[in-house]
Amino acid sequence: MSKGAPLAPGDAIGILGSGQLGRMLAMAAARLGLRTLIYAPESGPACDVATQTIIAPYEDEAALSELAARVGVVTYEFENVPAHTAQFLAARLPVHPGPTALATTQDRAVEKRFLNALGVPTAPFLEVDDAAGLATALAALGRPAILKTRRFGYDGKGQIMIREGMDVEASWLALGGAPCILEGLVPFTREVSVVAARGRDGSFAAYDVCENVHENHILALTTVPARMAAEAAAEAVAMAARIATALDYVGVISVEMFHVVDDAGERLVVNEIAPRVHNSGHWTLDGAVTSQFEQHVRAVCGWPLGSTGRHGRVEMRNLIGQDANDWAALLAEPGACLHLYGKHEARSGRKMGHVTRIFPD
Ligand code: AMP
Repeated sequence: MSKGAPLAPGDAIGILGSGQLGRMLAMAAARLGLRTLIYAPESGPACDVATQTIIAPYEDEAALSELAARVGVVTYEFENVPAHTAQFLAARLPVHPGPTALATTQDRAVEKRFLNALGVPTAPFLEVDDAAGLATALAALGRPAILKTRRFGYDGKGQIMIREGMDVEASWLALGGAPCILEGLVPFTREVSVVAARGRDGSFAAYDVCENVHENHILALTTVPARMAAEAAAEAVAMAARIATALDYVGVISVEMFHVVDDAGERLVVNEIAPRVHNSGHWTLDGAVTSQFEQHVRAVCGWPLGSTGRHGRVEMRNLIGQDANDWAALLAEPGACLHLYGKHEARSGRKMGHVTRIFPD
């Protein structure tokens, strides 16, 4: 197969990361007659369903060369892959999304500067590198404000809300002294996300805007469509398209946004970009013509994107920790579509599965 040519059924996709997103990608690939190779430092739920597995550190160049020799394209289910890993692989075979998209979205400051340069609104923010810088930033942005590590944050980890009366030095030390940004608080009405895909040929397809409720910083519930004016929904999708095009993106991209409704009307503020399939798109497995996982596979293989049509009003609830113990009752519920990720230990805060329910529109 020549470099960059579309894959054919029977070819293999390399996936960096072994979590549940990789598992659902591998299952979607299998349905289309494709094989998958999971590459990750540790075994995980994806390994149970993939054709092959390489367990090695992301820095292991011999193992990465082996991966490159065995697959036609590499993608990821986990965005904190070291930049050098993506570059090493991209020098050998197609990697989608590419190293630029990865580098832009791994660092909150770089991502926000990129968004603002595109004319996409974000929360006001300042870069903070030490306690003195935090004091200056707090004076400029006011309290409460949210201090976030620039890198490696997820599910609310690596961030704290700084309220009136809280000590600056202690707040700085709470995040371990890592480079941070301080963000002003956005007075949002709801949180929404756009899950969309861009093909190798530049084609673009978005699902309807999703509305997301978080509990303890973890996504609890997604409902589709989001409650918002049609113009605001169109604007959300247009922003995602602008972002994907500017990153020359290939694959599924997810853009989390705050929907602000006030006397001035409705507006959208982008919170963050995930360069991968996203938890708020899990409803598409049962609720859309093409799931986000199949869509991602289609995009990275150089295949046409599928329809993002929705089968009804959809609700997706995450099963966190012990929630998954209700599996038998969920199986018995007519119309509930249960997905379990095959994780052995139901630690608190761990995503164990999800359940989708579809209602008439
Ligand atoms: P993040 O890790 O950036 O996705 O933030 C986790 C959650 O914290 C978001 O889903 C929001 O609920 C909340 N949050 C983060 N940043 C802001 C902000 N600037 N204003 C208001 N809420 C925020």
